Amino acid sequence: MSKNPAVAEIIEKYKPIWALDSVSALLEWDMETYMPTGSSEQRGFALAQTQLIKQQHMMQLVDPVAKAGKLSDLNDFEKGFLRVMKHDLDYYTKMPPKLLEDIARTGTEGTVVWREARKKSDFNLFKPYLEKMMDLKKQEAEKLGYVGHPYNALLDRYEEGLTTSDVDRVFTPLAPGLKGILSKVLTAGKFPSTHPLESVKYEEAAMTRVNQAVLKLLSMPEKTFRMDISTHPFTTGIDIDDVRITTRYEGEDFKASLYSTVHESGHAIYELQTDKALEYSPLARGVSLGVHESQSRFWENFIGRSREFVNLVYPTLKANLPFLASYSEEEIYRYVNSVKPSLIRVEADELTYNFHIILRYELEKKLIGGELDVSETPSVWKDMMEEYVGVRPENDAQGVLQDVHWSGGLIGYFATYSLGNVIGGMLYNRIQKDIDLKSSMSKGEILRVKEWLKENLHKYGATYSPKELQNRIFGEQYNPKWLLNYLEKKFLV
Ligand SMILES: [Zn+2]
Repeated sequence: MSKNPAVAEIIEKYKPIWALDSVSALLEWDMETYMPTGSSEQRGFALAQTQLIKQQHMMQLVDPVAKAGKLSDLNDFEKGFLRVMKHDLDYYTKMPPKLLEDIARTGTEGTVVWREARKKSDFNLFKPYLEKMMDLKKQEAEKLGYVGHPYNALLDRYEEGLTTSDVDRVFTPLAPGLKGILSKVLTAGKFPSTHPLESVKYEEAAMTRVNQAVLKLLSMPEKTFRMDISTHPFTTGIDIDDVRITTRYEGEDFKASLYSTVHESGHAIYELQTDKALEYSPLARGVSLGVHESQSRFWENFIGRSREFVNLVYPTLKANLPFLASYSEEEIYRYVNSVKPSLIRVEADELTYNFHIILRYELEKKLIGGELDVSETPSVWKDMMEEYVGVRPENDAQGVLQDVHWSGGLIGYFATYSLGNVIGGMLYNRIQKDIDLKSSMSKGEILRVKEWLKENLHKYGATYSPKELQNRIFGEQYNPKWLLNYLEKKFLV
């Protein structure tokens, strides 16, 4: 892919780094699935050492990458390679080792305390760790540098080039738009807020058969993909020909297991459909968390929760879950699309989910910008939940303590979940200029949809930045209009 000898040489030197990433991914996957629990300390050590070796290899590429950055006449692959390398190297070169160490230590200690605090619903236990972490993250922003708001430096780690003005431009119309749709849906009552199927128990073996059938329906490849079980479902790309997902079985409310399978498959399809020519380079991965999440949400919600998809899986559901005998297809459709203002983000439906994110984004922005004190977060959280979702947490376990992200130092991460929904909406609109989704889906033509995604998005991996990629596909970036249009049509018409 590279014709320029200087770039080709760096690409060659990158291969051991690629191998270290691949090995780490496998170690992490194993840690969450099959590793004997007693080995967590040594595994943590092995992973940390792998990271250190990676960093040493990366540092040797600082000068060559800087030199190559001045070259002209580079092709898109070469430009993309140097862009991603510079973005990654910036972090290593700008962050003092002491700060990295402090963040890692505070993250590990803070996560242990956070677990305890959440169990006891006692924010004061966790407060000193959150204060310390926010302080370290402010330092990180200063070290990395930014234009405008210091939070921009942190957003950029998860979504390259993302700024508070981008996110504000998305969330300002999204919040009132969603609120309008939500209040109408709640009064109309077509989509229930609770459903009897939520408390019906299922056999794990039966649900496994359903999930396996869904993987077949999605044409997940047998030789390059596998599914296992973990508490928190995730996707790991070991390489383009080895992508793994996990799902979970809670024993009741089968839609949770079903849609976590579809969601993670969406992530996996993105990784699996990367152009093989990008293998062994840092371009052989999804370009950002937001774009990655757009793929999982596209399959989970836009496709998976559609009337047509329910029609496709209905026979499988009926054949394996005997308690569905008296439920019609239409009833299943309503069950998987129930809308309920609730306190917990991970349980939220398509309509209320983004409010949970908007709230976290606003809080993080203010905390990093120094406009809000950590001690005020529990009460501001409660007020905002009431304002946005219409429910008020009774305690901090149901509020500010519910997510693991802050304890581990993942500040700037949350926004990408909603950006994923927004890009999903843009994709849903754009793809229908080429494919009649409804008719394709009712015929089960999943491969056609996958092929379109491959040709227009997946094959590029990280070659283009998230913004450039959106410009190429949609001619615009992060436009929430299409998500709102889709939700209005789905829930109100
Ligand atoms: Zn996801």
